[in-house]
Amino acid sequence: MPSLLSDIADFFMPRTCHLCGCTLRETERIFCVRCIETLPRSLYHLMPMNPMERRFAGLVPFVRATGHFIYSRNSELAAAIHDMKYRQFPSVGKRLGEIVGEELNMAGFFDGADCIVAVPMHWWKKAKRGYNQADYIADGLGMATGLPIIKPLEAIRRHKTQTAMTLQQRLDNLAGSFHVKDPDSLHGKGVVLVDDVCTTGSTLRSLAEEIANAVPDCRLYLLSLCVTV
Ligand SMILES: [Zn+2]
Repeated sequence: MPSLLSDIADFFMPRTCHLCGCTLRETERIFCVRCIETLPRSLYHLMPMNPMERRFAGLVPFVRATGHFIYSRNSELAAAIHDMKYRQFPSVGKRLGEIVGEELNMAGFFDGADCIVAVPMHWWKKAKRGYNQADYIADGLGMATGLPIIKPLEAIRRHKTQTAMTLQQRLDNLAGSFHVKDPDSLHGKGVVLVDDVCTTGSTLRSLAEEIANAVPDCRLYLLSLCVTV
């Protein structure tokens, strides 16, 4: 938007930080710089065999795995994630994805990666919500890294909410939920698989198993925007 028009728009409807509510500067988007700086990082990508990689080691093949922000209940970040998922603020996911992409790219996390794939959402759930937040996170990652986004996966079965389930119950609940509809697009590729919040790792694990079976020569980078500890 031209500067004069954006100035007029800001005058009538000031852009504010989604976390602290302060008025955003012209160069800031969704969050102010101070809030971005204070978001809790796991720094897992800097650790060899980090806690998320330990969760998946020996279970599914992967190159690297990380969850970038630490998710804890009742935190400001948790409120933003809730808005992203349930209150029609997918732009929050896009901006967070962009921040994660910039920070991990600088650290070389995506070295050898060729494309980004978001965890798919069943069409019925997407129709009800209006969007899949993982698509927005993937968009932000794509903007920051320049990696193309492809959609070779589909969620073919609806599954129950997993909040109160154990890891095994979640894996059983997810069995048969995903399908690789376009394996050719993944052959020999380094694929960044993107989810929103990793708690037990069951969603990424389930999808990684499905991809490894369908496309054994695919190299997976498992990336979650947030991770619980
Ligand atoms: Zn702020």
